[in-house]
Amino acid sequence: MMDYDVKGHLKQVLADLPQGVRLVAISKYHPNEYIEAAYQEGQRIFGESHEQELRQKVESLPKDIQWHFIGHLQTNKVKYIAPYITMIEAVDSLKLLREIDKQAAKNERVIDVLLELHIAEEETKYGLTPDACRQLLAEGEWRSLSHVRICGLMMMASYVEDESQIRSEFRIARQLFDELKTQYFADEPSFCERSWGMSHDYPIAVEEGSTMVRVGTTIFGPRVY
Ligand SMILES: *Cc1c(COP(=O)(O)O)cnc(C)c1O
Repeated sequence: MMDYDVKGHLKQVLADLPQGVRLVAISKYHPNEYIEAAYQEGQRIFGESHEQELRQKVESLPKDIQWHFIGHLQTNKVKYIAPYITMIEAVDSLKLLREIDKQAAKNERVIDVLLELHIAEEETKYGLTPDACRQLLAEGEWRSLSHVRICGLMMMASYVEDESQIRSEFRIARQLFDELKTQYFADEPSFCERSWGMSHDYPIAVEEGSTMVRVGTTIFGPRVY
């Protein structure tokens, strides 16, 4: 018996999302039966942040699940997820982008990625500062990487109580998205994703133009590490 009402919580989160905002159900550290419960409710996009855990889940869960890799990805792990991953959300260096391109080519596919922005004050978070993000695109090498498709930005706001700070970080991300869209991706409809909003801040993220929220705890309960 499941001791947590995954289906009920999933429905509540989905009810909060306007049309056009997709849910990535973050299932890291949660057992397969929780994922299956969400799947039975129609959820198909799940996010994981550890390659080994993801591999085990992929082997035993339905094949039409779309997996997003949301964690910090080491270049030496790219080859394991390249055959099947739907989206790699946290690309924070040109080196990683090159490796994804190489492994995607080997698998004869194009992998969708997001660039991870670092706006939050916390020192520990990964990601590109807005300037580093601008620079990566200005340098232009990404244009020659034909097996990756940059579909937008992802970011995590600071983990704070202060709503106005969270909101202002989402706004900075949104402004950068608009700037990059105009400058580099005006003719690319696929550059359209703004992945922001987690359990504690997704309602604010939606108000600030998120197209994709990544919600774990609210759906699946606290993680047991
Ligand atoms: C774990 C994680 C989430 C989900 O966080 P919750 O607070 O459980 O909703 C979202 N995004 C990233 C990058 C994560 O690592």
